[in-house]
Amino acid sequence: MSLMYCPNCKKETNATRRICVKALPYKGLPLKVAQKYDYCDECGEYIFDEELDKENWEKVEQEYQRRTKCDSLRQYLKRH
Ligand SMILES: [Zn+2]
Repeated sequence: MSLMYCPNCKKETNATRRICVKALPYKGLPLKVAQKYDYCDECGEYIFDEELDKENWEKVEQEYQRRTKCDSLRQYLKRH
């Protein structure tokens, strides 16, 4: 739990961090990535956090790298 500014409540509130797995199409690949979000304890609204957003996108990028690496390895094995 952490104190965050909620634009909905227009004040600092306690936020709960939740992890949910999201299906995100990224660069033409359907990816499933665990994303972290902060939710206001008082109104339940999602609170945007720049740091967390950056972290989430890094996760997506990592998953994309992992997937494409797997795919090219599979294609390599098929050819040889
Ligand atoms: Zn709120």
